[in-house]
Amino acid sequence: MDSKKLHYAGLAIAVVVIIVAKGCDDRTGAASDPQKNVERAAVVYNELTPEEENVIVNKGTEDPFTGEFDDHYEKGVYSCRRCGAELYNSTAKFKSDCGWPSFDDEIAGAVKRLPDADGIRTEILCVKCDGHLGHVFTGEGYTAKNIRHCVNSISMDFKPANAKTEKAIFASGCFWGVEYHLGSADGVVSTTVGYTGGNALNPTYEQVCADTTGHAEAVEVIYDPAKVSYEELAKLFFETHNFSQVDGQGPDIGTQYRSEIFYLNENQKQTAEKLIDELKLKDYDVATKVTKATKFYNGEKDHQDYYQKNGQSPYCHVYKKIFK
Ligand SMILES: [Zn+2]
Repeated sequence: MDSKKLHYAGLAIAVVVIIVAKGCDDRTGAASDPQKNVERAAVVYNELTPEEENVIVNKGTEDPFTGEFDDHYEKGVYSCRRCGAELYNSTAKFKSDCGWPSFDDEIAGAVKRLPDADGIRTEILCVKCDGHLGHVFTGEGYTAKNIRHCVNSISMDFKPANAKTEKAIFASGCFWGVEYHLGSADGVVSTTVGYTGGNALNPTYEQVCADTTGHAEAVEVIYDPAKVSYEELAKLFFETHNFSQVDGQGPDIGTQYRSEIFYLNENQKQTAEKLIDELKLKDYDVATKVTKATKFYNGEKDHQDYYQKNGQSPYCHVYKKIFK
C-alpha cells in the first residue's frame, strides 16, 4: 500500500460515516465515536496534574486562600486550565474575602450551570470541556449584579491583557470541523469561522455553499505565540484533513471546501511551503494552496463554535499524526 492509500485508510472512519450521513451538509452530527474522543483528548486537552484533576475532573475544591488567583487583580482574561476556553474577564473579578477567586459575570456562553450533587448549590462548569470550575451564588449583595462565581484558581489559567497575539487563517473543508480542531489547540486564544479568498463582497453562507463566490470556508485563529507556534498550528491543519483532495473535503465537493493556507506574512508563507515540501518528501500528493490573505468575512453566528455548542464531534475531520 503506498502512502497515499495509507492516508485514505486513515480516513476510513470518516468514509463510513459519510455513507450514513450523506455528507457534511446534512450536518446532523455523527454518533459519538469513543476512539475519536480518545484522539480528541490526546490532541486537545492540556495534561492535568493530579491536583488539577482532583478539582477539574473529580469536582473537588482547593483549600481557601491557597489558590494562585485568589488575591490576583491584573487586567486580562481567565481561561479554562483544561481546554483553554476563555471564561472570565478581569473586569468581572471582585474582592470577596471568601478564599476563592470571585466574579460577578462570565464571558457570554462560556459557563454552564448544573444542580450540584449536594442538592443545594449550583455547580459551574466550562461549556467547552465540562471541566468543574466551582459554584455560583446569588443574593449575597457583593456587587450590583448580585452574583458570585466562586471559582477554583486551579481550574483556570490567566492571560494578561497586554500579551501579544498573532493571527493565522486556514481553510480545509467544512469550517465547523476545522474550527473544532484548531480552536482546541493549546495556545489558541479564539477562533472565528468565515469566508475568504473569493471575489464577492459580504458573502453569506448560502452563497458560499453554492460555490459562486470564489470564497473558501475558512477559520481565523488568534493565538499566543508564546504558547503555540504558527508551525505547530499549520501541522495540526494538515493532520486534521485530507490535503490530497482537490476542491473538496470528504463528501463536500466544491471550491469552497478547498485546502488552502492564507498567509499573513512572509514567515507564515515560508513555514507553509516548508511543510508542504516535507509532505511531498513523504510521498503525499498535496493539493493545498498557499495564498496571500485577503479580506476575511466573519461567518454567521449560528456557524461559530458549532460543535462545541451542539456537543458533537466532527466526522469530516479526523486527526491523524503525520509530523514529528
Ligand atoms: Zn474547558
